[in-house]
Amino acid sequence: MTDHNDESGWVIERGDSSPGSPTYWSGPDAWSQDHMDAVRFARKQDAERVACRVHGGHHRVCEHLWCGPEAVQCDACGEMVARDDIAKVTAYGIETSACAKCRGVSNP
Ligand SMILES: [Zn+2]
Repeated sequence: MTDHNDESGWVIERGDSSPGSPTYWSGPDAWSQDHMDAVRFARKQDAERVACRVHGGHHRVCEHLWCGPEAVQCDACGEMVARDDIAKVTAYGIETSACAKCRGVSNP
């Protein structure tokens, strides 16, 4: 098992979307390219039961893994931080993206 909060589940993808960049079912009459918006099913059979009623049954049911809060590297201090903690900041008159901890000001 993984030590962070990865989450797996089943999603409904539009049958006419590319498997490389699928369009996910995100609710009644709603589709999204963003997998974070996708409706997540715990069991494949439940996804299938819903999928047969959406988009004329033209769909794929796929297992999907969502990784926990994605870690990204702060441009300023080099720390690995959650993506949500990265913000646009202005440091030394330059706009950059940096974490909430250092706010773009590195302390060597
Ligand atoms: Zn930082």
